[in-house]
Amino acid sequence: MNHGRSPVIVIGAGWAGLAAAVALVDAGESVIVIEAAPQAGGRARALSLSFDGSPVEVDNGQHLLIGAYRDTLALMRRVGVDPQQVMARLPMKLMAPSGFRLQAATLPAPFHPLNLAIGLITARGLPWSHRWAMIRLMSRLQRQGPAACPAEMTVSQWLAGLDQPTGLITRIWAPLCIGALNTPPDEACARTFAQVLNDALLGDAGAADFLMPHGTLSDILPDPALSWLQKRDAQVRLRCVGRAVRAGLQSDWLVETDTGTLSASRVILAVPPYQVARLLDQTLSDVQLAPFEAFEYEPIATVWLGWRSPLRLPAITMLDEDIDAGQHGQWLFARAAPDDGPVRSLAGVVVSAAGRTGSQAGALAQAVAEQVAAQLGCPIPDHARAIVDKRATIRCSPGRPRIDADSLAPHCQGLFLAGDWVWHAYPATIESAVRSGLAAADHCIRSLTVRN
Ligand SMILES: Cc1cc2nc3c(=O)[nH]c(=O)nc-3n(C[C@H](O)[C@H](O)[C@H](O)COP(=O)(O)OP(=O)(O)OC[C@H]3O[C@@H](n4cnc5c(N)ncnc54)[C@H](O)[C@@H]3O)c2cc1C
Repeated sequence: MNHGRSPVIVIGAGWAGLAAAVALVDAGESVIVIEAAPQAGGRARALSLSFDGSPVEVDNGQHLLIGAYRDTLALMRRVGVDPQQVMARLPMKLMAPSGFRLQAATLPAPFHPLNLAIGLITARGLPWSHRWAMIRLMSRLQRQGPAACPAEMTVSQWLAGLDQPTGLITRIWAPLCIGALNTPPDEACARTFAQVLNDALLGDAGAADFLMPHGTLSDILPDPALSWLQKRDAQVRLRCVGRAVRAGLQSDWLVETDTGTLSASRVILAVPPYQVARLLDQTLSDVQLAPFEAFEYEPIATVWLGWRSPLRLPAITMLDEDIDAGQHGQWLFARAAPDDGPVRSLAGVVVSAAGRTGSQAGALAQAVAEQVAAQLGCPIPDHARAIVDKRATIRCSPGRPRIDADSLAPHCQGLFLAGDWVWHAYPATIESAVRSGLAAADHCIRSLTVRN
């Protein structure tokens, strides 16, 4: 229990900040969460669009969770959400309009390591040379582990070194790399990609399963987590912008916000690195700030498509991306449309590493609508709206700065970091955000035990 200690302030109520706050409350800490936006969830939350004057709830970006998101699923359960109730679990299936189809088998443990191999043997539209090349790569990864991949290597270099055929790279490895790391293979970190393949495709039974929320992202964690925190007397201040974090007179920290100054024994900064640099501008030296300013970012566009007529769309399908032909859509996800609204079919199309398109949002939405109609053989959507997040994730390059939850400890005792960019074994994802938040909370709790 907290024995009258000053509170821990968590800045940012994205999935990282929420994970940290829940863990701190569980440890008996008194917690204040401040969040600049009117709602929690950060980059993974619901958003309302207007189609034909009627509101349609979608997400700010179409997301995919997978069965390997161990800590995210545990956090959902912790705040009272049953993942089985709020998300559909679909066995990993890759299919594309070109006729390619690969579905992992669903053998339970201890046979699950065979699931991908069986999927490859029964795949359609994939030459045997490509199947053997994939099996070679995966068995080498299984033998040697991701750490055997040189830290400075790009995904393209790694795949070339493993004699992966060009057609296989174009059709499978590149879309998987861009989808998982939001970074093109020429620039993406091979070790991180290998880690993702290892944990998803060679992990526990069900690790590669696709998890699709029935409703919005806000329903599956941010909103329930906020209620859970508030019921346990954590203070949550929405629309509260952190301006600066600086040392107080005692061993406390002062968090200046647009509505006043708060004092805390410890602070978790669960915000993107450019915000950390801004918040600590007067606290750290230029040299100490430099790594936070060195990250580069990649955009993601989500094109929301709506049809006035009911359609049978595939739950998840890869699209055939052809940049030269202006076909930028990579994955399509069918979403439930409201029963009573003018839109009867709804889909989110993802364009990761969207900087390569060079298109404005309106033109991109139109191009994706035409691509989907042509490739899936369905009517042209009646509505197409692109939402572009310019700094959707950090660029997952081999040379990106590596910063840990407790990296500030040597200069600033009591300050900790969380965010999808802090858990660098993984690309910037919901799972890395949650793991980083738990790690920050753990350091935070232990720091006080050490000082006591
Ligand atoms: C379009 C898109 C698609 C994606 N697709 C996937 C996917 O399919 N699968 C997947 O796993 N991940 C995906 N991601 C990545 C995932 O959304 C992020 O990794 C995750 O949401 C990051 O959470 P976070 O808590 O680290 O950061 P954020 O979500 O950025 O949270 C930071 C929070 O801090 C707040 N904040 C910032 N500055 C201040 C301040 N000064 N004062 C107070 N509050 C502040 C922000 O408002 C925000 O709420 C996608 C991201 C985008 C944008």
